[in-house]
Amino acid sequence: MTAPLPPPQQQRIPLPLGEGSGEGSAATVTLPESGATAMSADPSPQPPPPKGGGDCPVSLAVYIHWPFCLSKCPYCDFNSHVRDSVDTAAWQAAYLNRIRATAARTGSRRATSLYFGGGTPSLMPPETAGAIVDAVAAAWSLERDAEITLEANPAAVDRERFAGFAAAGVNRVSIGVQSLDDRALRFLGRNHSAADARQALRLARRYFDRYSFDLIYALPEQTAANWRRQLRGALAEAGDHVSLYQLTVEPGTAFHALWTRGDLATPGEDAAGGLYEATQDTMDAAGLPAYEISNHARPGAESRHNLTYWRYGDYAGIGPGAHGRLTVGGMRHATRQHRAPEVWLERASRPGDPLAAEQGSTVVSDAEAVIEAVMMGLRTAEGVPLARLAALGGAPEGIGAVLDRGAIARLAAAGLLADDPDRLRATAAGRQRLNAVLAEILR
Ligand code: SF4
Repeated sequence: MTAPLPPPQQQRIPLPLGEGSGEGSAATVTLPESGATAMSADPSPQPPPPKGGGDCPVSLAVYIHWPFCLSKCPYCDFNSHVRDSVDTAAWQAAYLNRIRATAARTGSRRATSLYFGGGTPSLMPPETAGAIVDAVAAAWSLERDAEITLEANPAAVDRERFAGFAAAGVNRVSIGVQSLDDRALRFLGRNHSAADARQALRLARRYFDRYSFDLIYALPEQTAANWRRQLRGALAEAGDHVSLYQLTVEPGTAFHALWTRGDLATPGEDAAGGLYEATQDTMDAAGLPAYEISNHARPGAESRHNLTYWRYGDYAGIGPGAHGRLTVGGMRHATRQHRAPEVWLERASRPGDPLAAEQGSTVVSDAEAVIEAVMMGLRTAEGVPLARLAALGGAPEGIGAVLDRGAIARLAAAGLLADDPDRLRATAAGRQRLNAVLAEILR
C-alpha cells in the first residue's frame, strides 16, 4: 500500500489517542458492490467527483504557503523558517508565476476557496495577498462568495495590516491564539501575550466576516477541569469556528529534544482521552460541535477550504512544501513542491515550466484514492458516502481490495463506526481512536 500524502494545509492535525468510552450500537455497514452506484440523498453535499475531461469546470481549492515566521515555536514541525529579511517582491512574482503555471496544467476550474497558510502569512505584505487573489481570479473562475482565509499570528497583526488584508479580499482569518493564559503561552514559546491575542481577536471581529482561532491543549499536568475552565473562558471570544489541537511531540522539534531527555512529560493516553472528551462536551454545549476531529463550528460555519481536503476534492498547493491533488486528463495527481524556501523561490521563478517548482507529481491509483478518501473522510463527523468511494474505486472490486468488510462490520458492532447504510462514518468514539480504526479497516 502506498502511504497517501498529507494535505497541503500546514495546521497541526493530530489524532487523539485516548481510550474513552464508546457510543453506538451493533450495526451493519454494507459496501456497495458496483463502481457506478448513484449518490444517495445527502444532507451535506460533497464536491462533485472530479471528471477531468474538461466538459465541466471541476471545483478547486487553492492553498498558498508562506513559509516565514518571526520565531520558531518549540512544538512546531511545520515548514516554517526564520529569516533576517525576505525579498517580498521576488516571492510575489514567484507565487503569481506558479499560479499561472498551475492553471495552464489544470485548465478551466471554479476556485471555491483560497487559503493563505504557513508559516505566518499575516507577515506577507497585504498588497501581495491582493495580487495573489487577483491572479487566482484571472487564472481560474473565482466564485463571487469564495472563502478567502488568512492565518494570522497575534504578534504579526495590527489595524493597518488587517485593513489591508480585508481590502485585498480576505474574508476569513484564522488566528493562532494557542492559549489565553500567559504561563501556557510562555511554555509554548509563543512570541505574544494573552492580551495580544485578545487584541487580534478584537481586530478580526472588526475587519472580517468570519474568524476562527486555534488553541492547544493536553499541556503537561493539564487536568480536564482546568481545561474545561480555560475553554469556557476562550469561548467568550469565539465566533462561529474554533480549532482545538492536542499538543503532540513531533520529531525534529525543540520539544522532542526535551521529551527524549525526560524533561517534558505530556498527558498519558487516559488523561489525553479525558481531555478530548471534555473538549467535545464543552463544545457541544456551546453549540460548536466537532465537524472534524480538531475543528468545531456552528452548523454552516465550517471551513469550506478544509472540507475540500476532507471530502477529497481537488486542491492546488502552491509554495514551499505544499501538497496538491489535481485531476488532469481524467487522472488524479498527487503533487508536492520543493520544501526549502530558497530552492522553491528559484524554481518557482522560472517561466514556462509548469512543473519547475515540484519535487514530485505522481498519479494516484484508484485504490490509493479510496484509501486517501477514507483517511480524510473518517476525520469528519459526516464521513464518506459509499457511492463516492465506489466512484473513486473505479471497478466493482475497487473498494473491497482496500477495505476489509469484516473489520468494518466488527467496528460497527463495537460502536466505532456508525450504523449508516449510505456512508462510512466514524462515531465520536471511533474518531477518538481513528488511527486504530484505520489500521483495522484498510487492507
Ligand atoms: S508561528 Fe506557527 S508556523 Fe510559525 S513556528 Fe510557531 S507554530 Fe510554527
